[in-house]
Amino acid sequence: MIVLTTLVAAGPSAPAVAGPADPEPASLVTLSVPDKAAMERLVASGADLTERVRPQPDGSIQVDAVVTPSQLAELRPLGATLATGTPAPAQTKATAAQDRIVIERAVWFESRDGYFLSVEASSSAAQAATLSVTWKGRKGTTGQAPMVAYVDAGAYLGHQFSTPVPAESRPEWVTVTSAGGGTAQARPREWPDGARPDRAGPGYQRDFITQYMPPAQLNERIKALHRRYPKLTDIIALPNRTNGYRRHAQALIGTPPAAAVVITSAAYGSEGGNDLAVELVTPGAPGRALQVSVNGKLVTVSLATDAAGAPVSTAAQVAAAVNATPGTGVKATTYRTDAGAGVMAPAPLTQLSDFLSAPADVSRAPAQVLALRVGAHRDGSRTGVLAYAQEHAREWVTPLVTIEAAERLLRNHARDKDTRRLLERTDIFIVPTVNPDGANYSFYDFNSQRKNMTNHCPAQQSDPALRNAWGVDVNRNYAVGSLSDGYFGASANCQSGTFAGPAEHSEPESRNVIWLAQRYRNIRFAMNVHSYGGYFMWPPGAYKLDGRVTLPRPAPEQEAYFLRSARTIEEAIAAERGTVTWPQQTGPVTDVLYSAAGNSADELWYDFGVYGWDFEVGADLWNPGTRTWEGVGFQPPFSEGHAEAMEFAAGLISLIGIAADFREP
Ligand SMILES: [Zn+2]
Repeated sequence: MIVLTTLVAAGPSAPAVAGPADPEPASLVTLSVPDKAAMERLVASGADLTERVRPQPDGSIQVDAVVTPSQLAELRPLGATLATGTPAPAQTKATAAQDRIVIERAVWFESRDGYFLSVEASSSAAQAATLSVTWKGRKGTTGQAPMVAYVDAGAYLGHQFSTPVPAESRPEWVTVTSAGGGTAQARPREWPDGARPDRAGPGYQRDFITQYMPPAQLNERIKALHRRYPKLTDIIALPNRTNGYRRHAQALIGTPPAAAVVITSAAYGSEGGNDLAVELVTPGAPGRALQVSVNGKLVTVSLATDAAGAPVSTAAQVAAAVNATPGTGVKATTYRTDAGAGVMAPAPLTQLSDFLSAPADVSRAPAQVLALRVGAHRDGSRTGVLAYAQEHAREWVTPLVTIEAAERLLRNHARDKDTRRLLERTDIFIVPTVNPDGANYSFYDFNSQRKNMTNHCPAQQSDPALRNAWGVDVNRNYAVGSLSDGYFGASANCQSGTFAGPAEHSEPESRNVIWLAQRYRNIRFAMNVHSYGGYFMWPPGAYKLDGRVTLPRPAPEQEAYFLRSARTIEEAIAAERGTVTWPQQTGPVTDVLYSAAGNSADELWYDFGVYGWDFEVGADLWNPGTRTWEGVGFQPPFSEGHAEAMEFAAGLISLIGIAADFREP
């Protein structure tokens, strides 16, 4: 039986009767692909995948994705199906010679749900090996679980658990056994086991987030913080305005595909396009020629008629006639790639629309992206930390992480000496929303919007039903390890969820992030806040598929510094409500997630020497009833989003602590 795992419906409620101008409804679903090769095809297809990727014991991979019914149909030939309820059991394969097993890492952690075990091991038989783990814990408890081979771009990276497994008590010995005969033992260590966060004093203030916030509210919030703490803050207006939460007004007239025209205003909807209207009339007399007239805001197309008075103008003829008429304020095209040979019927007056639903007080103008600079000495003399959120519009929790962290720092400056030390020693740049246009679209129109709102698609892909697919993936638009450099994990298709844009840095959103790194050379650390899945990652974040050639690995001492710092930051996250970031989700992006060509953390690290981290906030929640980990989604109920913001704000402040202790080598 196929089980449809729909996590949330995406987008505002569909109209009662969906027409050809309406986008297909999209859903957040869990897909299953049979193997890593199929997963790579899925990434290459530009499907709108989330960051929640879960290898299964049978070698298949589950990944959450945002899809419409037609996109799902297109993904089926790539091997993707909706995930079934229960993964198939691991196959047992015989191997000829006894294999050698090495336990790379065996750790236990205690979360708010109890003890869990994570084991990573490798076999000399590589992915052909079938490995399982048994363990002994305190008070004679025991357990057993299968491992999965982790093969990425053809490279065997070892075996691990699909997800950390629950243990009745603290595990004390683990044994990895191969069906091929190999075996190895280890004593698991505690995870993350970083430096424990300082205990906050009794007067420490926290918890300043009461709701999800659209961009206007986020900007108001940081401006209010600046007004209240003028000696500790500046507001920086980033130089590149976005294109704005605005679109050209459109109407789809007729019956697709052959007998339809798409009318698009030259002006944005908010700048007059929405005032325009189009009608197709029949002159009511035989033998008339096709005519277009303009009366104020109304464009009237009088269709040609035959000897019996019946309309005979085709869609192509109507489009050409509209475009040949001066002063209409619109452009007409046939439907998608259709030649438009169908005869158009009369159509009643249709008002053009930009289909944007935000209230009128949400600005349609190009947006200024703001940064809040926090520190006692904002003169470039202190170690800079950049925290930037919401490159991806639908990740509503991520701005809250930055706001909560900023407010904790400012409100506690006068009352907490540890906070005072942070603001003495660091220079913090907080950008709550990198992509405000997309964020507005996600709030008011289509909650699964990932990209910005700038449409680079040609006319054939710009009819209004496709409007939810337009835009550039801001975190694939950067210039290091990019699609145009030959790296994997971004798309050249303008409708793809990972569309890299027409060129590196084509988008103001990505140029703003890089501007900060260029302008403030004291920035040495960066946190790119995303959701969801519970990851903590650093470069390299991209590879070339052929040979799996990653961007250069950091030097061993740098990798050790990334990992050591991560463990400290993960302690701070866990101290909030016991959320432990999994060891198998702590590491370089390419090793723990997938290749993401043209992402921002890579550019910050390789071009600017900035320690560029990525949070994927929103760790899976343990369901004790089903004994499985469950994804939280992009917009969980606010109580959960609030808890995620609290814990990752603590993590961000811990990163600022690491920056405060940083000495240039
Ligand atoms: Zn993201």
